Amino acid sequence: MKIKFHGPIGRVTGSAYELHHGDYRFLVDCGQRQGPGSSSSNRGGFPFDPRSIHAVVLTHAHLDHCGMIPRLYQRGFRGPVYCTHETRDLAREVLRDSAKLDSLHTLDDVNRIKWSVPADLRSKEVRLEDDLTMRFFETGHILGACAVRFTFQAGDGKRSITFSGDVGPGRAGGSHLPLLPSRTRFDHGDYTVVESTYGATVRSAFEADLEHRLDRLELEVRRCRHQRGVLIIPCFAIGRTQDVLFDLHLLTARDRLPVDLPIILDAGLATRINGIYAAELRRRARRESWSNHALFDALRIVVDGAEARAEIDEALARTLSTESNQWGALTKEDRDRLVGPAVVVTGGGMCDGGFVQRHLARHLTDPSCTVLLTGYATPSSVAGQLQRMNEDEDIAICVADRFLKPSEVKARVTNLRGYSAHADQAGLLDWVFGADSTSHAFAPRRRLFVTHGEPRASRALVKAADATARRRGLVTTAHDRIGERWFDLARDTWCEAPTAGGAAIVARR
Ligand SMILES: [Zn+2]
Repeated sequence: MKIKFHGPIGRVTGSAYELHHGDYRFLVDCGQRQGPGSSSSNRGGFPFDPRSIHAVVLTHAHLDHCGMIPRLYQRGFRGPVYCTHETRDLAREVLRDSAKLDSLHTLDDVNRIKWSVPADLRSKEVRLEDDLTMRFFETGHILGACAVRFTFQAGDGKRSITFSGDVGPGRAGGSHLPLLPSRTRFDHGDYTVVESTYGATVRSAFEADLEHRLDRLELEVRRCRHQRGVLIIPCFAIGRTQDVLFDLHLLTARDRLPVDLPIILDAGLATRINGIYAAELRRRARRESWSNHALFDALRIVVDGAEARAEIDEALARTLSTESNQWGALTKEDRDRLVGPAVVVTGGGMCDGGFVQRHLARHLTDPSCTVLLTGYATPSSVAGQLQRMNEDEDIAICVADRFLKPSEVKARVTNLRGYSAHADQAGLLDWVFGADSTSHAFAPRRRLFVTHGEPRASRALVKAADATARRRGLVTTAHDRIGERWFDLARDTWCEAPTAGGAAIVARR
């Protein structure tokens, strides 16, 4: 089997790997590039003929991993997309939403996707092609997110390669994020391709501490009520919104929030995603595989017994429901009339689009308002500009077609850490090597490819992995050594591009 790393090399978006097993060709992920300059590259052609690809295997539903799949169909791809059923449900919503926002693909393209969700993907090897199987392992990044290990025949023996997708923050045995399972441990086989988004980041223990995060959130909510202001919490639709809602709900359930304070979810896509999370969590609460002890501990629930399960169901349903008075949704008129005190959890994590723009336009000039950022923001985004405005007076912040100078922004802007759905450096090393075990029984045996990161982050992860890797006789390959070359996984060496056979106009299945 041969592999080409189309991306992301030296950046964190646009995930796509092309693999050839004999004349069977498939992709692992097919994601959009995001950020400055990405639009033209997404609109350009694929670096391969989409008609020659037989299948896509998808790790998870973030746009930088699945966003180009509809366009792949638009350009002649006819094969199936293999993923977990949660990833299918989430990706369908995300891709429909993005069809409305840009012109990369249409709703028809999304409806053409042939989703294939084998029920036992996570419990056994599933056949992809002759002498080629795959198995999925949860990474605890977002709902349904999995690493994928492919096992293939190479000469007399078998070899395997594992793709991390994105790796979540929770160690095996417990996660500090309430709604996610922790990472699973498994034998990586011969090769591992690992992401390095936070390969240079070492987080403080506070960031993995649920109680610390709850204390901070409580403080911000109480401050908002005291000042009779609006607390705006912009959130990404998948995962972040649900985590923040859960925390607010948990504080309410513990009588730590004022009962007379409206807590409002004002979001479009996130509201639809909530329904998928709620349904899945109810299903998982009844299954052994649902093992996030942080959630049960937080709710003071003993996991065994029908009564406890009913309690979990009820708690989750309340958390993710928008039907009760306090947890309402806004109309446009409500939004334009909203006054403090109120907490608004709203769509648009980087504040570049979504309902958050309306709220910012109304409340940024109000000193009683607080904007509580809950995640990473690129420097050029509105959230990134709000973070930098104390250092850079020349920024003109544009929200809902209104330009504001930093001196006009009177609202407080602050960060609430601890919601990251990505592992930091220690977490990535733990995922690759099992850093807390001396045997490294699950680590790859031949080579570690580090991709999916800014150059500084990839290099830092390579450096951190090198000592352990060398002790194991493992070669660590940094992003900048990967370039545009092909790698022969059977012969363990870089190689020429496979000779182009005739493109299969009609895929085999
Ligand atoms: Zn992701």
